[in-house]
Amino acid sequence: MKKTVTVTLDVPDDFESFSALERFVRDAGRQWQRDLCEQLTLERGVAGENAECPHCGGSATIGKGSRPRHLKTQLSEVDVSVPRRQCRTCGRSFFL
Ligand SMILES: [Zn+2]
Repeated sequence: MKKTVTVTLDVPDDFESFSALERFVRDAGRQWQRDLCEQLTLERGVAGENAECPHCGGSATIGKGSRPRHLKTQLSEVDVSVPRRQCRTCGRSFFL
């Protein structure tokens, strides 16, 4: 799977120091990482409509809402909504 990510930034005309420039780049990168992580999590939830049940292997599942989670990733901390599915075969639920 290939993805193209476009980032639009408001870049100041000048920076007071190289450290300020570095902070700007670091913060922009973190925001971009959070946005991408949230987007991929959302897409994963949509793709999860075809997910197999991890308990019985059943393929018929239905959406059962989602749960907000605050994740501390290797890149940053992000708030995401983790989709939940319920298996129609065994009735158990699971998070994607
Ligand atoms: Zn099941």
